[in-house]
Amino acid sequence: MNYLRRRLSDSTFISNLPNGYMTDLQRPDPAQPPPSASTTPAKSPTGGPTPPATSPAPEKKPQPAQSTGVGFFSSITNVVKQTAASAGLVEQSQVTTPKKFKILLVIDEPQQEWAKLFRGKKVHGDYDIKVEQAEFNEINVVAHANGTCNVNMQVLRNGTKVVRSFKPDFVLIRQHAFSMTQNEDFRNLIIGLQYGGVPSINSLDSIYNLCDKPWAFAQLINTYRKLGPEKFPLIEQTFYPNYKEMVSMPSFPVVVKIGHAHSGIGKVKVDNHSKFQDIASVVALTQTYTTTEPLIDSKYDIRIQKIGTDYKAYMRTSISGNWKTNTGSAMLEQVAMTERYKLWVDTCSEIFGGLEICAVKAIHGKDGRDYITEVVGSSMPLVGEHQAEDRQLIADMVLAKMNQAAEKETNAPQRPTTIQLSAVSEFR
Ligand code: ATP
Repeated sequence: MNYLRRRLSDSTFISNLPNGYMTDLQRPDPAQPPPSASTTPAKSPTGGPTPPATSPAPEKKPQPAQSTGVGFFSSITNVVKQTAASAGLVEQSQVTTPKKFKILLVIDEPQQEWAKLFRGKKVHGDYDIKVEQAEFNEINVVAHANGTCNVNMQVLRNGTKVVRSFKPDFVLIRQHAFSMTQNEDFRNLIIGLQYGGVPSINSLDSIYNLCDKPWAFAQLINTYRKLGPEKFPLIEQTFYPNYKEMVSMPSFPVVVKIGHAHSGIGKVKVDNHSKFQDIASVVALTQTYTTTEPLIDSKYDIRIQKIGTDYKAYMRTSISGNWKTNTGSAMLEQVAMTERYKLWVDTCSEIFGGLEICAVKAIHGKDGRDYITEVVGSSMPLVGEHQAEDRQLIADMVLAKMNQAAEKETNAPQRPTTIQLSAVSEFR
């Protein structure tokens, strides 16, 4: 009992307690019957008899006949069951009433409060939407071949640790699933969600494919071949799978982009051959690929974004003079959405089976020409003064897709839960 009282000072333990458990514990201990004359004295650790007079507390025997004792122990059993379930150690007991809500998992930082955008919204007429929001590093996934997928989540909210385990019905991914910077590889979670068949915006397939910038650039090369340099002015780029071939460059200055990282990380401006060789020697330590591009004497960066059927174009000009306009201070302005920009983003939104949310990045040079550099997906940061509107557009799209997914689920045949033995024997 004293041990349990001590455990009550642990806030995580308390947060896992079922209703009614505290009341059980706060109840006074049931009156103990006086020790019978025949009771054997408790043994000391050394095996010698402990004198009854100096014993700090008489040993309590369980009182199976007392109803209060039963309530107390059943509470403990429930606590153990619930704690184990939330830790994913045991399967949670079946809820008998049908679930009247759909769970939307949003992968985003806590400052972006997605739950309020779904308050009062319904899926399929009468399902509420329960939003579970966490960052990639706060979740884990267990998926089964029968299509079930359990997400275990541990988040710190206002100093309180919240532990939850649930089966998401849909997922919105607003964080980068992969970066080569330390501890930012969450592709295992994307695989888990895909394995569990969780519908998503953008598709998990496209998110996985966008985890290597040169892999995505290869798609842009296809578009460039289809549309030509006038309509789709893709920047010249060279790909090196490792440092070994990084021996010469046709011209300088160049931008060397090492591996897959965001926010300007791993991008180096190189002016001459000897610096290029220095960088190649650094790449040798990284065990990753590299791309090189001519350094564009840039006037401003262009970003064309598409959220469903909404299009916006922005230009970003460096104020601090950094050649990377996403580093240091910069000025962002919304610009007119032209047919040319629309063509860029529409064709890019077709790659990897379709990107509902995407942006095309380009550089506008002082030579008056545009150079498309990259396409980004649903993890793209929102920019400018219409961020609230953009977030609402994303929420509306998620809602529409959740309805489609619920519709599909209703019409889909039940998946088999066991492997047919006849199918297994074919592999022998
Ligand atoms: P993200 O964060 O969107 O994943 P990133 O910041 O890691 O991308 P880039 O957008 O390729 O990487 O480069 C950062 C900035 O560097 C660009 O916004 C642009 O201003 C500048 N830049 C990139 N490539 C070139 C180039 N070839 N010539 C001139 N400037 C460039």
